[in-house]
Amino acid sequence: MLYKLLLLLALTVGTAASAGPAAAQTAPADTAAARRPAFDVEAATRHYLDTLTPAQKAKSDAYFEGGYWLQLWDLVYALGVAGVFLGLGWSRWLRARTARLPRLWQRNWAYAALYLLLAAGLSFPLTVYEGFVREHQYGLSNQTFGAWLGEDLTALALSVGLGSLLVLALYGAIRRAGARWWVWGTAIVGVFMVVAVAVGPVFISPLFNHYTPLPAGPVRAGILSMARANGVPADNVYYFDASKQSKRISANVSGLGRTIRVSLNDNLLRRCTPAEVQAVMGHELGHYVLNHIPKMLVFLLLLVGISFWGVDWAFGRLVRRYGARWGVAGLADVGGLPLLAALFAVAGFLATPVTNTIVRTNEQEADMFGLNAARQPDGFATIAMKLSEYRKIEPTPLEEIIFFDHPSGRTRAQSAMRWKAEHLDGR
Ligand SMILES: [Zn+2]
Repeated sequence: MLYKLLLLLALTVGTAASAGPAAAQTAPADTAAARRPAFDVEAATRHYLDTLTPAQKAKSDAYFEGGYWLQLWDLVYALGVAGVFLGLGWSRWLRARTARLPRLWQRNWAYAALYLLLAAGLSFPLTVYEGFVREHQYGLSNQTFGAWLGEDLTALALSVGLGSLLVLALYGAIRRAGARWWVWGTAIVGVFMVVAVAVGPVFISPLFNHYTPLPAGPVRAGILSMARANGVPADNVYYFDASKQSKRISANVSGLGRTIRVSLNDNLLRRCTPAEVQAVMGHELGHYVLNHIPKMLVFLLLLVGISFWGVDWAFGRLVRRYGARWGVAGLADVGGLPLLAALFAVAGFLATPVTNTIVRTNEQEADMFGLNAARQPDGFATIAMKLSEYRKIEPTPLEEIIFFDHPSGRTRAQSAMRWKAEHLDGR
């Protein structure tokens, strides 16, 4: 869970915009667009959307819509894994094996670490399909199986290491705080999130990619000039070798406090025009300047708190009914960890539209900031089309609200053309 939150917090170039705010931002009558009926925002947007062939659209729709179903299968699979631990007795067995350790914290820690390892093992077929097979089917991955596996195992070691410590701390809170454990649990998750986000760029990201200063040249000069103009130190702009993993164009803002930084990937610099790179960079500077990472932490922690509260309620009811059959004595019994994990998976699934909307709203803000900072509406529109490689270009409004953690290509091209219409007189 922690690792997923961490990934979520590395705000990427994808942005979010719901139909509501977009409609609210429609220009009033006395605007450049109104004075200049010659520039039709809708037609200009359509022009960009039509640069994609029907085959390209069909492929990215299939990839992205497949992702909707994967979220459901992930949940079903997670419930199946919990069933193996609780229904088939793996949890009882694991608790019996770790019972010989002298101290309670040692027993809890050992159970948690082994549970996380075994659960990852059970989920491995699905992980291979989602992370390797499917990415190759859609031509998005550059990795051999060996290279992919190496990274997957690194990520697993991180999540077992951090995850088992988090579980240990949570069981400490359950033991000491009783019924109010979920309040303390939320605070503990908050501390883990802040530390992980702060140290992520320094200790975690370099395990997967090589980060260097931007390569010299006119593109670098333009990017650093825009960064300085927006109060972002040039030292905080990095370049990384994402092409060793995939063909995806991307950039992100990560870190907290002294470690905050903007990172652009090599696919972006290689596959895009200077105007497009400038447009993406304007977006990333938006995340940085608008303090999106600390704001996201607050929102996500609120969701974690609500989830804990709901999980506490559901856990009590289920254990009263099935506890004897599953061998779970109560909340303080680490043997109930698979049930807690399953309930969190359900909470995470139910919260998906909310999390997506929180992230997407930040992304839309960064889009607006980027248009104003980079002043490259056409570059932004073409990059939005290029991102359709892995994001459906033209969803329905409801689909965008529920499933999109970034604005769709259509929303982005429309935002860019609306901006352009209002700036045709060169202001
Ligand atoms: Zn973004």
